[in-house]
Amino acid sequence: MKDSYPSCASCPFPKEERLCSVENGKSPATCPTRDNDLIDEVRKEYSDPGIREFVRQASVQEGEGYSGREPGNTTPKPAKPRILEIAEFAKRMNYSKLGLVFCTGLSREAAIVESFLSDKGFRVVSVMCKAGRTPKEEIGVEDHEKIRPGTNESMCNPMLQAFALNRAGTEFNIVMGLCVGHDSIFLKYSKAFCTVLAAKDRLTGHNPLAAIYTLDSYYRYLKKE
Ligand code: SF4
Repeated sequence: MKDSYPSCASCPFPKEERLCSVENGKSPATCPTRDNDLIDEVRKEYSDPGIREFVRQASVQEGEGYSGREPGNTTPKPAKPRILEIAEFAKRMNYSKLGLVFCTGLSREAAIVESFLSDKGFRVVSVMCKAGRTPKEEIGVEDHEKIRPGTNESMCNPMLQAFALNRAGTEFNIVMGLCVGHDSIFLKYSKAFCTVLAAKDRLTGHNPLAAIYTLDSYYRYLKKE
């Protein structure tokens, strides 16, 4: 039996003909743009002034991520790297204290980011994943499950990262290279809104889409059992 959940990723219609692109456009039965209850529910959430301003500024930032936006130009160009967008967005929101959580494997990059943001006038509070030096055994990891069995390994501690930033009262937190799952814990426990600067992908130099772009060629072995 077919379920009734949205499946935009496999929408059968060309983008320019879809209901989410044009009035009276085409849509499959499970299309969320047809779901007026859902749209109303979300609209209510956006009526909270804090959320509304946040999402409004995010959309303004989105627009300003392009050059060549003068009327009549149909091909605006991307103009800014994400790190600059983060700094600009934080300024728009009048944030002064930013959190930065990072993986030990990106320590050098974290120092660069910290200095970039400090130079832009922000106070940056940063916490590395291994902070707390908590042994993996404490969460039930067995020796053979470590990266290097037979050695002492500290767990990544995303909850500690979140609690430290919560305690510091950071207004906006930047995630850089946390592991799959560790990032989930951080995102759940961070009190401030978060954004991701980099998603960890050890194999591709933190460019997870490299495997997606080449999933039918170099990375096709990933599709096998
Ligand atoms: S038309 Fe509906 S189902 Fe298709 S992509 Fe847009 S929102 Fe998703």
